[in-house]
Amino acid sequence: MEASLEAEFVSKSIYDNLVQSVNNNLGQLHRYYEIRKKALGYDTFYGYDTYVPLIKDYNVTMTYEEAQILLSNALAPLGDTYIKDLEKGFNNRWIDVYEDDSKYTGAYSWGTYDSHPYVLMNYDNTLDSALTLAHEMGHALNSYYSDKAQPYQSADYPIFTAEVASTMNELFVTDYLIERASSDQEKLYLINKQVENIRGTVFVQVMFAEFEQRTHALLESGQPLSAEVLNNLWLEVIQKYFGPGYNVLDEQKYDWARIPHFYYNFYVYKYATSMSAAFSLFNQIKAEKEGSVEAYLEFLSAGGSDYPVDILKKAGVDMNSSEPVDGILAYFGTLLTQMEELLDKTSTGMTSSNTHTVIAGDVLWKIASQYNVSLEELMSINKLQDKDLITIGQKLIIPAN
Ligand SMILES: [Zn+2]
Repeated sequence: MEASLEAEFVSKSIYDNLVQSVNNNLGQLHRYYEIRKKALGYDTFYGYDTYVPLIKDYNVTMTYEEAQILLSNALAPLGDTYIKDLEKGFNNRWIDVYEDDSKYTGAYSWGTYDSHPYVLMNYDNTLDSALTLAHEMGHALNSYYSDKAQPYQSADYPIFTAEVASTMNELFVTDYLIERASSDQEKLYLINKQVENIRGTVFVQVMFAEFEQRTHALLESGQPLSAEVLNNLWLEVIQKYFGPGYNVLDEQKYDWARIPHFYYNFYVYKYATSMSAAFSLFNQIKAEKEGSVEAYLEFLSAGGSDYPVDILKKAGVDMNSSEPVDGILAYFGTLLTQMEELLDKTSTGMTSSNTHTVIAGDVLWKIASQYNVSLEELMSINKLQDKDLITIGQKLIIPAN
C-alpha cells in the first residue's frame, strides 16, 4: 500500500483518515437512502432505485452556446484572468463539440507542452454535458497555466491534483444553478444531482478504497483471497455503507470483479480526496477569502513542481487533516436537509400509486398498454435502453397521462 501511495508522495495516514472520516459519517448515506425510499413510497429499496428520478417529467436541456454563457457566469468567482482564458478556449476552437461518425466517445482534455489544450466533447444538449464541459475545461486550463509557468519536465500534473481543477468547476456550476433555481422542482432536481455526485465520488469510492484496504490486509495476514472470500467481504462492505434500509441482491456479491481499478492498486481514493480538496478551496473562494483566487491560480500553474499534498497546502487546503473530508460530508448532510424540506413542500415526489413493480411474465409493451402510456415514454422516463431488459421486482415509474 505504501508503495502505491508513494508514487504520488501520499502518506498512508491520508488514506486511513479518509476511510475513517467516511466511516464516521455513514449515517448520512443511510439517511439519503431512507429519504429516497420514503419519497418513492417503497417498502424495499434496491440498488437500481437509487437512479429513479424524484421528480416527474423534469429535464433540463441546454444548448452548447447556453452552456458557454453558463460557465462564464458561474465561474466568475475564479476571477477575470480565468474567465478571459476560458473564453479564449471557447473562441479559438480548443473544443471538438459534437458527436460525429467514428468519433471517440466520452470526453477528455489533452494537449502537448507547446500546444494549447484540446478538448474532446460529445455535447448532447443536456445539463450533464454542460457539467462535463465545465469539468474538461478545468483540466484544459490547468494544463494551459502549468505549461505556461513550468519548464517541460515539471509541467505535467499528477492525478491527485488534476481532479481538483475539474471538480472545482463542477461545484461552481452546480452551486450557481441551485442558487438560481426558478422553482422548487428545479431546486430539488439540482440538489439531488449534487447529492448523487458526492455519493458517487466520495462515499462509493471510499467504499471501494476500504474494500481494497481490507483485501490487501487479508493477504498480508496470510489469508488466501479466494473468490468466496472476496464475495463475502464485498457483501459485508456494501451492506455497511448503504445501511439497513438497503436490500442487497445476492448477485451483487460479484460486483467487485467488474471494477477495473482493483486491478491496479490504491487508485480510487483520489476521487474522494480531490473532491474534498476542491470543496474546501471552493468554499474559500466563494467566501471571498483574501488571496484565495490568486492562490488557486498559482495552484493551477504549479503542474508537478512539488509534491501534490504540498501544492494543495500552498493553495490553502491541508490534506493531512481530516477537515477537507469532514467539510464535504457536512455539506452532504446540509443538502439532505434541503432535500427533505423540498420533498415536504412539493407534492411532486413519486408515490407508490404511480409505480409498477415488474412481476413474472411482464413485458414492457404490455405494461405500457395497461397504463395507457406509450412504450417510448415509459422507456424514457425509466431511462431504459433496451425494451427487453426489465427484471422481476424492478419498479417502473408510470408517467401521468
Ligand atoms: Zn477529470
